[in-house]
Amino acid sequence: MYQNQTIAAISTAMANGGIGIIRISGDNSIEIMSRVFRPAKKKDMREVSSYTAHYGYIYDGERKIDECICLVMRAPNTYTKEDVVEINCHGGVIVMTKVLETVLKHGARPAEPGEFTKRAFLNGRIDLSQAEAVMDIISSQNEFALQSSLKQLEGSLRDKIVEMRKTIIHHIAAIESALDDPEHMSIDGYGKQLLIDIKSLKQDVGQLIDSSDDGKILKEGIKTVIIGKPNAGKSSLLNVLVGEERAIVTDIAGTTRDTLEESISIQGIPLNIIDTAGIRDTEDMIEKIGVDKAKEKTHSADLILYVVDMSRELDRNDANIMKMIEDKKVIVLLNKSDLDKKVDVDLLNKKMQENKNWKYVEISAKTHDGISDFYYILKDMFFEGNLSFNNEIYITNMRHKHALMDAETSLAMVEQSILDDMPEDFFSIDLMNAYESLGFIIGESLGEDLVNEIFSEFCMGK
Ligand code: GDP
Repeated sequence: MYQNQTIAAISTAMANGGIGIIRISGDNSIEIMSRVFRPAKKKDMREVSSYTAHYGYIYDGERKIDECICLVMRAPNTYTKEDVVEINCHGGVIVMTKVLETVLKHGARPAEPGEFTKRAFLNGRIDLSQAEAVMDIISSQNEFALQSSLKQLEGSLRDKIVEMRKTIIHHIAAIESALDDPEHMSIDGYGKQLLIDIKSLKQDVGQLIDSSDDGKILKEGIKTVIIGKPNAGKSSLLNVLVGEERAIVTDIAGTTRDTLEESISIQGIPLNIIDTAGIRDTEDMIEKIGVDKAKEKTHSADLILYVVDMSRELDRNDANIMKMIEDKKVIVLLNKSDLDKKVDVDLLNKKMQENKNWKYVEISAKTHDGISDFYYILKDMFFEGNLSFNNEIYITNMRHKHALMDAETSLAMVEQSILDDMPEDFFSIDLMNAYESLGFIIGESLGEDLVNEIFSEFCMGK
C-alpha cells in the first residue's frame, strides 16, 4: 500500500537558485497537480498529453503560491514508470517548501531519500547497479567518475553480470535435469566441459575485482601532496598543472601559509592536489601551523610530489623531508632545471635504487621542460602506463566488489570439486551460490531490508 502512494519531494538543491523542481510520482500525481495548478490558458490539466509543459500558477485554495511551469509525463515512459509531474517554480528555499507543502496537503506523501529511483528499480526500468549509477553520477567528482557511472547507467555492468549468470544457470539446469532423469541424460564427464567455462568465468570475475583498485583511485582521485622547501617552486608547479594562475606565486620565503586544494586531471588521471606550506624548521608560529598541516596531509597521501630547487644544494631540511616521506610513493621533481644545477643527482639515484616507490625527474616550472616526462612517470606509477577508459568496466562500488569476491570464492569451489572428481551434485550448490552473489549486484534475490538500506543513502528528491 505504502509503495502505491503518490510521493513528492523537492528534487533540486535545498538552496536558493534560479529554478526549483518539485517532483511528484504515482497514480495520483496528475490528479493532485490539477488540484493545485491553475494553467494560464484554461484547460483540464487531467487530460493533457504526456511530455507537455504548461504555464500557470500554484494555488493553495485561493492563495497564490508561485508562478510556474508544469511538466506532465505519463506512465510508463517516465523516470519511475509511473505518472510523473514536475513543477518548475522559483528556486527559493521558502517558495519551494511552500509548493511542496501544498502538493502534500492535496494528497501526496513526502518521498523518502532515493524513493523515485527505488521505484524505477522496483518497477523494473533499471536494475540495482543502474540505480546506484544514478547516485554516482550525482556525486561524481571528476570526468572519469562521471564517464564510468554513465556507462554503468547504460547497463554495461548489468549486461556483463547477466551474461555470466546465463552461463552459470545453463550448467545448473543441465546438471539438475540429468540428476532428475538419469535414465535419459548422462552427465558422465560433465566436469571437464564445465571446467572450461568455470575457468573463463573466474577470469572475468577476477578482472572485474582487479579493476576496483584503479576504479577507486580514478573515482576519488589520487590524493597528492606537493611538498618542498620554501621557494622550491611548489606554487609554480601547481600553476603549471592546473593550467591557470590560482595559487599566489611570490619570491618571499614562506608565503604559502595555508593549504590549497585543486582537483585536476592529467591525461585522464584525476589528482586531488594539496599544496602545502614550505616545510622547514621554523620559529614563526603561523608558518608552523602550515608546516604541521603539511606533515599531517603527507601522512594520508597516495602520492607525494617533492619539489626540489635543483639550483641549490640539498641541506638538512631536505634530509628531514626525505625522512618524513620515506615510506610513501614519491616523485621527486628537480625543479629549475633551466638554471645551474647544484643538486647531487648521483645521491638521488642511489636513493631511488634503495626505494622502488621513489622516482625523480628534472623539470622547469618556468619553461615547462620535463613536464611530459613527469606525466609519463605518473601514469607508469599508478597504472603501469596503460590506462584505457574506453571499453573496460571499472568496479567503483564496494558492494559490487564484495559480491564479486563471493562469486569468485564459489567458482573456485566448483573448480576444486571438479578437480577432486566429486559427484556432479556437488557442483550445483556452489554454482547456485555464485549465481546468487552475482545477482546481488543487479539487485536480484536481495532482501528488502538491504534494498531499503542502499536507497536510504541516496539524496532527497532523487
Ligand atoms: P614555493 O614557495 O615552493 O611555492 O615557490 P614558488 O612557486 O613561489 O617559486 C619561488 C620562486 O622561484 C619564484 O620567483 C618563481 O618564479 C621561481 N621559480 C619557480 N620555478 C622555477 C623554474 O623552474 N625556474 C626558474 N628559473 N625559476 C622558478
